[in-house]
Amino acid sequence: MKTTNLVLLGPPGAGKGTQAEKLTAEFAIPHISTGDIFRAAIKDQTPLGKKAQKYLDGGELVPDEIVIGIVAERLRQQDTEGGFLLDGFPRTVPQADALTDFLTAEGRRLTAVINIAVPPEVLVKRLSGRRICRQCGAVYHVERKKEKQAGVCDQCGGPLYQREDDREEIVRNRLEVYFRQTEPLIRYYQEAGLLLEVNGDQDIAGVYQEIITALRGTG
Ligand code: ADP
Ligand code: ADP
Ligand code: ZN
Repeated sequence: MKTTNLVLLGPPGAGKGTQAEKLTAEFAIPHISTGDIFRAAIKDQTPLGKKAQKYLDGGELVPDEIVIGIVAERLRQQDTEGGFLLDGFPRTVPQADALTDFLTAEGRRLTAVINIAVPPEVLVKRLSGRRICRQCGAVYHVERKKEKQAGVCDQCGGPLYQREDDREEIVRNRLEVYFRQTEPLIRYYQEAGLLLEVNGDQDIAGVYQEIITALRGTG
């Protein structure tokens, strides 16, 4: 069977989580969101959650060694053998190098890195209207992707909430962190011959179609 090992790259609010929900269903691969992993750990107040909390609260990146360890452990689980989708990882050059080394050592490799490009002013609007399911992490938007019953997740019935770090001051810092630390990965993956660029400034279905079309040329 063909394995599909994907990375979704893009600034906060680009639509990574939204497209990840569709792609992981289409390819029947696990959705590995480092943000979701940290938020679950914080909710449960695990040792990881206690370490990560201050970084998420301030919109800073969790230190590389912590994130790399978490992702390596997740990629060792059997359900990733037929493929996986990484959402929000890597976010720094050291994380990207660690991922390459880890996969190479196991005889695996990435199929493609999808960069979802969206202009900054659109990102701010998306993040301020974002709502998340507390239980399953499904993503909604107050105008652009409304739930059927107010405040209740369509998928699991869980309660929707607004992320603390989607407040305006924190959003500004997260965008700065993105441009400084994560944007260089676009070039990194371009040079590795893995990058697929999609226009994220169109409706959700349009972005998805562009991703599926771009993926046809890969393998
Ligand atoms: P968004 O998609 O809106 O940028 P995420 O849910 O991916 O948000 O990430 C939320 C927060 O989790 C980040 O601001 C950061 O603190 C932490 N985080 C997630 N992924 C990483 C990563 N790969 N490296 C460092 N920190 C991360
Ligand atoms: P990311 O994971 O990259 O931070 P999300 O998938 O959480 O981004 O999307 C951010 C917000 O924008 C959510 O409220 C989501 O419903 C909304 N959104 C996602 N894609 C689109 C799109 N193509 N058009 C309009 N709104 C979108
Ligand atoms: Zn839910």
